[in-house]
Amino acid sequence: MTRPKALVAGNWKMNGLKGAVDEIIKLNDLVGRSDAKCDVLICPPVTLIGSIIQLNLKHVSIGAQDCHVKSIGAHTGDVSAEMLKDLGCTHIIIGHSERRVGHGENNVIVNKKASQAQKFGTTAIICVGETIDEYEAGKTLEVIVSQVKSSIPSNAIVENTIIAYEPLWAIGSGKVPTVGGVEEVHTSISKVLVERFGSEGAKINILYGGSVNASNAHALMSTVNVNGALVGGASLKADDFFNIISVYDQVD
Ligand code: PEP
Repeated sequence: MTRPKALVAGNWKMNGLKGAVDEIIKLNDLVGRSDAKCDVLICPPVTLIGSIIQLNLKHVSIGAQDCHVKSIGAHTGDVSAEMLKDLGCTHIIIGHSERRVGHGENNVIVNKKASQAQKFGTTAIICVGETIDEYEAGKTLEVIVSQVKSSIPSNAIVENTIIAYEPLWAIGSGKVPTVGGVEEVHTSISKVLVERFGSEGAKINILYGGSVNASNAHALMSTVNVNGALVGGASLKADDFFNIISVYDQVD
């Protein structure tokens, strides 16, 4: 069962003023002239989404970093999945560890947010990951399997679901699990997806995220059941991000 094209997604987090749009224009040019066999997505801060989408870039899709659990109402400062879809977002990152930890988002909330993203026609990139304590206690697989099972909403279909495995201790730290460790986790996630969706579940992309850079990307992206990357810091500059994307000149 072959998966769709790999996806290399950049999460800009709370970085980027108006001038940063130039990096996305540059990235779009670089990807357009390359042979990279992957899809490319940038999730900028919500303040930049509208102006970037108006550029009608052909080689870079635009997504968001979060949405609310509800579609409309008295939720000051929040943004709904429907609003993001209306702007032109194709994907929404859901349950990033910085939301799970910094905003108390548990699997129930993540499930509701993913449901909103999917209901309004975007693909939910559902993030899962273990803490350093869970990793050191040998609980990684148990934690990840439970997060994946509880975070995927009942309305999810294969076409609008992506999972991103991001160990919390690897995010922004320069530390990366072994290739064997990543393969073990991704293979367990793949099994859960097949249990949930039948054989079609094997078509869901499972991204790895956590300190991906140009030096480690080839090894990570060649790993069994790794179908792309979710990249934070190294996605902010077009050249750095393009070096990761270029790994897909060589990886199928
Ligand atoms: C992330 O925030 O999703 C992430 C993976 O960050 P970094 O690449 O900087 O570790």
